[in-house]
Amino acid sequence: MTNTPQAPLREFKHFINGEFLASRSQKTFEKRRPSDNALIGTIHEGMSDEIDAAVQAARAALEGPWGRMTIEERSTLLYKVADEITRRFDEFVAAEMADTGQPKTMMEHAFIPRGAANFKIFADVVKNVATESFQTPTPDGAGALNYAIRSPKGVIGVICPWNSPLLLMTWKVAPALACGNTVIVKPSEETPGTATLLGEVMNAVGIPKGVYNVVHGFGPNSAGEFLTKHDDVDAITFTGETKTGAAIIKAGADAIRDVSFELGGKNAGLIFADCDFDAAIDSAVRSVFLNCGQVCLGTERLYVERPIFDRFVTALKTRAEALKPGSPEDKGTTFGPLISQEHRNKVLSYYQKAKAEGATVVTGGGVPVMTDTLAQGSWVEPTIWTGLPESASVVREEIFGPCCHIAPFDTEEEVIRLANDTPYGLSTTIWTRDLSRAHRVAAKVNVGITWVNSWFLRDLRTPFGGAKQSGLGREGGVHSLEFYSELRNVCIKL
Ligand code: NAD
Repeated sequence: MTNTPQAPLREFKHFINGEFLASRSQKTFEKRRPSDNALIGTIHEGMSDEIDAAVQAARAALEGPWGRMTIEERSTLLYKVADEITRRFDEFVAAEMADTGQPKTMMEHAFIPRGAANFKIFADVVKNVATESFQTPTPDGAGALNYAIRSPKGVIGVICPWNSPLLLMTWKVAPALACGNTVIVKPSEETPGTATLLGEVMNAVGIPKGVYNVVHGFGPNSAGEFLTKHDDVDAITFTGETKTGAAIIKAGADAIRDVSFELGGKNAGLIFADCDFDAAIDSAVRSVFLNCGQVCLGTERLYVERPIFDRFVTALKTRAEALKPGSPEDKGTTFGPLISQEHRNKVLSYYQKAKAEGATVVTGGGVPVMTDTLAQGSWVEPTIWTGLPESASVVREEIFGPCCHIAPFDTEEEVIRLANDTPYGLSTTIWTRDLSRAHRVAAKVNVGITWVNSWFLRDLRTPFGGAKQSGLGREGGVHSLEFYSELRNVCIKL
């Protein structure tokens, strides 16, 4: 296990109207690296001055060259953004690795390539979607022609979490820009790196100034709240915790502005005895422990049909114990830290609650022994529990850590009831070889996304979003266009 090399301290400024700017208030806060808690930079905290300036720049850009571009011209520029991210791939990998502490291999193979791909996908979608038209009968027999046109919605506030920063931010910025909007991004206070780098990319490829703006800061009484309350913002798209979503709705209620929310989850994996056992275990290792369990689509509740329950628990334990925490740069590292000491305290409090509520701790439940500077990082052990009632807090509440509770079940009806017994409704995985059962169960589980015999297999054209308290609206493919554009009806009397 090696230490992570110390890099020069960075200063993360806002990106407003094509320029990197310090906060007028000169307020800054620290960014620490999750793997060893080393100070890696200072972040300028944006307040209402910075949000005002960013909104003005975004409004002016809408009315300026960006607003006059054709879809073709915008799409060509978005392709250039993707190509420039790919050209500066190593810088994006390094920035995200420093911010999140997750293994380099994961950045290289999944998160950064998806960040670039988002721009290409939405550049294509926007060029290829027709709008509806109707020939409408009229009393004089001449008729009327009704058709719809798509206009940008305007200035969009994009509020992002820290768990895969570039991927989740571009998932919203790319369709917003493809539809001709301008954006103000408020990245998570934990992950300033790639949003800032993207500002350089935008300038390098010639995206007009004011189209993409970044204001750093916190949520309440800081950049996040000022953005959600600003009168001249036309819509807010947000990914984060359910309770933050509720605060954002309240803050913007008087303005009656559109929102798209991707929120928390407490996702269930349903493992039937006829499944491909090895594939189900491989998938469970990923869905529980990937990104140190900080994936909204991750599985924190596993229900396993009784005949294979013991074998499943033993196999998942073995695989959890084989995960290798370490420096993100090391090729052998397969398990990263949590995002911050604060989040570690929250996850560890759930580890204690599980014990207090009578869980059998199959593996983990504490902090791994790390050496040298890594000992200061926000590490926790991959953890598996069994034996808890459904009312236990670790079975009901989103923990957002590398942990799961596994319970046995006996019938299809029972496991559907258990899966649905939650205020959340983001995703489910079903493992079975019985195709009829897969269709039956998928139709009855009240979630936005169901995977059968897979997990996190994404086609970016499909509707993405949560049921119940896991979200509002759908994004992805044409569904993103519905949110990021205003459909206008034109009726022509013939
Ligand atoms: P969070 O809600 O704490 O913060 C998200 C963003 O909101 C941050 O930028 C934060 O500064 C900002 N914010 C906080 N309070 C605010 C306020 N009052 N007004 C405006 N902005 C405010 O979430 P997090 O801890 O960064 O991320 C983890 C959460 O995100 C988990 O609940 C996870 O399930 C969820 N998530 C959901 C999806 C999805 O697609 N459904 C994807 C990723 C993460």
